[in-house]
Amino acid sequence: MIGLVDANNFYVSCERVFDPTLEGKAVGVMSNNDGCIIARSAEMKAMDIPMGIPSFKLESLRRRGDIYLKSSNYELYGDMSARLCQLLRDTCPAVSPYSIDEMFIYLEEFTDKQCQTLGEWLRRRIRRHLGLPVCVGLAPTHTLAKLANHLAKKSPHYQGVCLLSAQSASTTALLKQTPVGSVWGIGRRLAERLAINKIHTAWDLREADIQQLRKRYSVVIARTALELRGTPCLHMNALDQPRHRIMTSRSFGQATGVKTEVHNALRRHAQRSAEKLREQRSLTRAVMIFLNTNRHRRDQPQYFPHAMVPLPSPSDDTRTILGAVHQGLEQMYRPGYKFMKAGVMLLDLVDAEQYQLSLLHQPPRNRHPYLMATLDTINQRMGQGTISFGMTDADAAWQLRCAHRSNRYTTRWDELMQAGTHPGAIQECAARK
Ligand SMILES: [Mg+2]
Repeated sequence: MIGLVDANNFYVSCERVFDPTLEGKAVGVMSNNDGCIIARSAEMKAMDIPMGIPSFKLESLRRRGDIYLKSSNYELYGDMSARLCQLLRDTCPAVSPYSIDEMFIYLEEFTDKQCQTLGEWLRRRIRRHLGLPVCVGLAPTHTLAKLANHLAKKSPHYQGVCLLSAQSASTTALLKQTPVGSVWGIGRRLAERLAINKIHTAWDLREADIQQLRKRYSVVIARTALELRGTPCLHMNALDQPRHRIMTSRSFGQATGVKTEVHNALRRHAQRSAEKLREQRSLTRAVMIFLNTNRHRRDQPQYFPHAMVPLPSPSDDTRTILGAVHQGLEQMYRPGYKFMKAGVMLLDLVDAEQYQLSLLHQPPRNRHPYLMATLDTINQRMGQGTISFGMTDADAAWQLRCAHRSNRYTTRWDELMQAGTHPGAIQECAARK
């Protein structure tokens, strides 16, 4: 059996763990720069507030206290996700994270009954240890586990844990009710193409001729159909493999054309990308940087430059990557434009261990791994950006707007939850009620 553990309204749930006064209220989490709504609580969904609505349109509701809006706090969500993964690793033989709030667990040696019991136990344990509500879908394949999870969320009858066997009356009934577009990996356009051949539901896809599917559509569709029949065809190992490129980019809090400000934003992204690079033990051969002006401001001159800087030898040294960023910016920067977004991409990655083993290449600076490892350890322990290259200015235009961000309770020493009768806290609670 394969299980899919998926947190309910993950971002909102993370906020509620540390601020229980939000329980039962309509809560939304906003995108970077507080632009639009990217996560909603069940209460907010019930108010028919759509996903993606610009935050300013909700301002009057917020002021009236009908809804609560939070700036996104990715550091907190990322850490809660890591904790969820660790908790599952402590109890399950194998775990494979699929997204920030979805993890597959592999329970090959368990009977259906044991899986059901384990699912219920995990759900209680996660709630108790992390404060997060989750649903668990259990089935013989990834695709069915995804559907089982969906059912566990939608139908209260399952109490958060739904087990689907491949050949049962309830599975058949479910597949007949499920539009094919809701099956994992089948997008809207593909659903339209399947409809031409009278494949409208998940059941139609399951019963379709596999050879025909492969010929008319793709191997992936044929595999999905087999997965719906209960034959495992998808392997998640691919998820464990290191990424082939690493990108860090952000929109600015305010557009800016000042070169040092743009440079500082790029420097920040370069340092973050280098950290990610070392985390997956890769080296990069090339650094690409790009800038965007705001394409919605037709009244302003537009410029979307990018520069690619190949490195003399593969590296994971932040200083080398910063040097390349500087070089790239010199190539592409032009005054007179207001930039809205900057990004750094590391390309053409190679495995650090394999590369350093090859006798042809010696690391250019022997001591740098220790310096970089020390840097990473300090930043992991004390919070991102505790030590960085160059000065950072928290008030710079490019810094994110996040007026309503909660504390990063689990990753910053100076933002820990405080217990006690802090008068401000009491007033704040009273005001919220
Ligand atoms: Mg979820």
